[in-house]
Order: sequence, then structure tokens, then C-alpha cells
Amino acid sequence: MDNDFLKNLDASQVREIVDSVYPQEFPAGSWVIREGDVGSHLFVSAVGELEVVKEGEVLGRMTSGKAFGELAILYNCTRTASIKAVTKAKVWVLDRRVFQQVMMRTGLKRMEDNINFLSSVPLLQNLNDDHLTKIADGLEVDFYAPGAYIIRQGTSGDSFYIIRSGKVRVTQRIPGESVLPESATVACRRPGKVAEEEIRILEKGSYFGEQALLREECRTANVIAMAPGVECLTLDRDSFIQLIGDLSELREKDYGDESRGVTRPVTAPPHNVDAEAGESEYSHIRLDDVDVIATLGVGGFGRVELVQYANDKTLSFALKCLKKQHIVETQQQEHIFSEKKIMMSVRSPFIARLYKTFRDSKYVYMLMEACLGGEVWTILRDRGWFDDGTARFYTACVVEALEYLHSKNIIYRDLKPENLLLDTTGYVKLVDFGFSKKLGASSKTWTFCGTPEYVAPEIILNKGHDRAVDYWSIGILMYELLTGTPPFTASDPMKTYNIILKGIDMVDFPTHVTRNAMSLIKRLCRETPAERLGSQKAGIQDIKKHKWFQGFDWDGLRVRSLTPPILPKVRGPTDASNFDAYPRDVEVPPDELSGWDLDF
Ligand code: ATP
Ligand code: MG
Repeated sequence: MDNDFLKNLDASQVREIVDSVYPQEFPAGSWVIREGDVGSHLFVSAVGELEVVKEGEVLGRMTSGKAFGELAILYNCTRTASIKAVTKAKVWVLDRRVFQQVMMRTGLKRMEDNINFLSSVPLLQNLNDDHLTKIADGLEVDFYAPGAYIIRQGTSGDSFYIIRSGKVRVTQRIPGESVLPESATVACRRPGKVAEEEIRILEKGSYFGEQALLREECRTANVIAMAPGVECLTLDRDSFIQLIGDLSELREKDYGDESRGVTRPVTAPPHNVDAEAGESEYSHIRLDDVDVIATLGVGGFGRVELVQYANDKTLSFALKCLKKQHIVETQQQEHIFSEKKIMMSVRSPFIARLYKTFRDSKYVYMLMEACLGGEVWTILRDRGWFDDGTARFYTACVVEALEYLHSKNIIYRDLKPENLLLDTTGYVKLVDFGFSKKLGASSKTWTFCGTPEYVAPEIILNKGHDRAVDYWSIGILMYELLTGTPPFTASDPMKTYNIILKGIDMVDFPTHVTRNAMSLIKRLCRETPAERLGSQKAGIQDIKKHKWFQGFDWDGLRVRSLTPPILPKVRGPTDASNFDAYPRDVEVPPDELSGWDLDF
């Protein structure tokens, strides 16, 4: 309880952790931790004397009862100091895996129940645990009152259902059996009532809804909840296709519809065609067709270059070049795929477009819309802080982008001024979808990710998180835009996490921050995700209606008639002057030929 991080756990978690630590002995003169090593354990000193050493210099001494190395139980990290046993010493050791397991348990309890149930479902009986876990991860639970239509015949479908408890009635309209007499003289505007025939009753463990997903057709029957109500586990289209769709039992299932004469009307493509379907207008461009002009940014996995199209010099793009070797070493393949998939599937004026991807033996590439106004981060650094109106405009662009993403069940998870770029007109576009994830409206995810200053408390405590982490980060962003520094910041990530866990009420607001701005920041940075503005029924609309935005012209923002606060100077398609200068990268990365990137 003396440790700033561990004191945030609840008593039951502490008890489990105490049960899971194991002792380790170190002879006098040996190293418990070495600076520069990659760590995955937290230690608590028990017996003996320890010394903290950094770059050869002794920083301090510890006797029993001190916890150290705690960042390593959050994620893989390099030790920033060494710990040496001065005398013979004994320490208690906590493994990252054990810690994360304990922390996840509460959220996972529900999941485990789901898996147990799934393995009792006849259709899924032969799947291995891993497969079942993936299914359980994507499941949502829905309740239906007696008489409720879970599925209506003729509508298009996006979900697959498994009955967890209760019964449903399946009915079907049979063509030619209208209950209205054929000779009726009254003109009906709607189709008359049609006879519905009960086809069957389904019970716990049965499934339905797969036909419309497998064949991209309309629903061919009604499914109606019976008394006293039904609990269903549902899986969305993408997860269904990926995880269940090719089970042979499903594909071969015959409901006898043909013998009953029920036709299978084919629906339009299931998703809104607005974005995903359209081929990008630059899909003909090849990697050889572009020349590097300048470097726009350098990040974890490589660089973003400004490139010019050789066949039309008025066209330029931002080309994100990611070193494959590095991606494989840090096991980020899934994240990179998701970055590509999500960026390709979104289309919003507040998000930079991704037109095309390439690959060669050393890199994967993303050809994006170039936003030449520069990073909001650079402007903020040069100006110190933004006035209320400027911060409001940029925050509003972000709110629009997030509203769009959330409407598509995408959480962003990496909000910060470095990832906000100005286009030539001074409007903001979001870039960097490396941490974004598709996540159903009531699902949670556990991966630790983000940038320390912007990470929400539930991520730090490994409680499972959802879109509410984006609301939290809007609050952090507002504070940084208005003051020049984020509210929670310290000399190292672990200290930053500990002050995040202390909460926004411990943070001082400079006097120039208005009352309304402060009120909105505090409403966004609530410790409990469900209490954050945005998490309620009206969603992100509540943020737009907050007093800080009173009178803000949201329509003008959307149609881009609103005058932006800062108009960047951009002289032409190859002008990179709004970005910092980066030295040329002389290092040639090694080939990486394992083939994970075939889809790029
Ligand atoms: P990751 O967080 O996955 O390591 P990253 O931070 O390396 O990614 P990005 O944030 O996508 O990569 O890009 C790094 C920088 O490159 C940005 O901060 C920005 O300055 C510049 N940049 C990225 N995309 C564009 C773009 N479309 N137009 C102009 N500049 C861009
Ligand atoms: Mg970035």
C-alpha cells in the first residue's frame, strides 16, 4: 500500500497477487535488475540491502518492504536503472503475466462463462479453446422481451445469434397466402396482412441468423422471443464470417425453404457503400511512380515521406514507410494490418485518406493524403498554448472524427497533438491508426496501448477498456491545447501513470483556462468510464452540447464554411516547410521475407 501504483488495486486483487509472488535470493554483489535489460517482473524487497545504480552512479539504497520495477508488469520495457544486492538479499517476484491475469479476471469472468456455454452448443462442440475464446471475445449479450421480433423476415441482417436461455418461435410468410381476399376493392398502401406459418421452435443452445450472413440475403424468416423472454449471444457479421462462417454443418444446413416456395431475395451489399466499396482514385499509382521530396515525420517503425507523383507533378502524397524487420521483432503485424484495414475503410473529411499500400523486401508502405499544414503539435510548441477559440476549433474537428469512427465501432486510442495534422485550409485531420481497433459497442479489449500522458486509468489498471478511452483523451487533449502541457506528466511513464491514477481533481488549472473549458475537461476525465461525458445514451452528442461549445457552428464545421483559427502557409504540393527538418536515414534495414505482409 506504500507503492503509488499498487495502492490502486482492490483488496481482493492484492490478496491474489500476494498469493502469486515467489521468493528469489541474490548473493551479495549480484544484480537483481540491470539497466538496459528488457524486464517483465516487479520486485518487493524482503531481506537484505539493495542499491539503485544508474549510469555507474549510486542513486540510493533500499531495505525491506519496497516495490520496484513496476513499469515492467504493465508492458515490455527497458530497465532505466540497475538494482544491486549489497548484502545477501531476498526479494519477492511478481511476473507480468500473473499480474495481468489477476487484473483481467473480473472482466474475464463473464467471458469464461460465455466460453463454457459456447462449448456446450452442439454446433461449436468440436472447436478448440482458442477458437472458442475468439468467438467469446466478440460476443455481446442481448435480452428480448416476450413477443419481441429478434429478426424480421425481409430485412437485411448483420448479426448471428445463439440462444443462451429461453425459447424463440420461427415463423415465415408463405407467398400467395395473403389473408386479404384476392378481390378486395380497397386500395392498400401497405401490403396486406400476410399469413405467417410457424416453422419451428428453437431452444437454448440453438442458433439462427446465419443464412443472411452466409449468402448476403435478406432474412428469410421471423424469429420471435417467447415468454418469459430470451437471452441471446450475438456476433457481428465480420466476426461471424471469420470465426464460424465456414463450419460445414452451417453451410449444409437445409431449412426446407425451397420446398415451401420461399424465395431468397438478395439484398444490396450489407455495409453502407459510402466508403468501403469504392476503389480509391489513385489505385493505379505504383511505388516506382513516386519520388521522395522530404521527410514529414519519424515514428516508432520508420518514417513518413512527402512524395511527388512523377506523371503529374501537381500531385503529392504522404508515404508512411514501415520497417518490416522491426514490425516482426516487436510482433506488431496485427496492429499494422488493422491500421491498414481501418484506414482503408474510413472516409471522413476529418481523417487523412489512405489510398493504397505497397510492400517490398524491407518495408511496407502506406500511400496517404498529404496534410501539408503541419502537426498541431508543432504549432502548439511554437505558440506555447492556444486561446479558447483555437482549442475549441481543433477539438471540434477531433470530436467530428471520433463521432464518425465510433459510429463505425472503431476506437482510436492514440489522440495527441502529434497525430493531428492541418490540411492546407487549416482544418484538422486525424492520422496514425496504429492503435485503432474495431470493437462492438458493448465489448471490451485489454491490450495496453496509447501514449503515456493520454492513457486512461482503466488501461493502466488492466480492467478492460472501450470507446470511453477516447472521451478521456479528448479531455487530456483540450488541457494540452489550452495550456501547452498535458495535465498528467512526469519524468518517466510509471510516474505519469501514478498521477493519472490520482485523478483530474489533483490537477491545477492555469487561471487563463475558462470555467467552461475546465468543466468539460473534468466531465471527460472521470475515473469511471461510464460516467464520462459521451458514455451516456446520447453518446458524443453530449460533448457537442456542453457549454464550452455553446454557439459553436457545428454545421459550418462540417461543410467547411467556418473560418479556421490559423491558416497555414503552404506554397505548393511539395512544400514541407510546416514540418520540422529530419536528418536523412542512412541505415538500410535488413530484408524480412517471412511473408506475413502478403496482403499489403
Ligand atoms: P506509430 O505511432 O504507429 O509508431 P508513427 O507515430 O510512427 O506511428 P504516424 O503518426 O502515422 O506514425 O506518422 C508520424 C508523423 O508523420 C506524424 O506525426 C506526422 O508528422 C507525419 N505524417 C503522418 N501522416 C501524414 C500525412 N498524411 N500527411 C502529412 N504528414 C503526415
Ligand atoms: Mg504518431
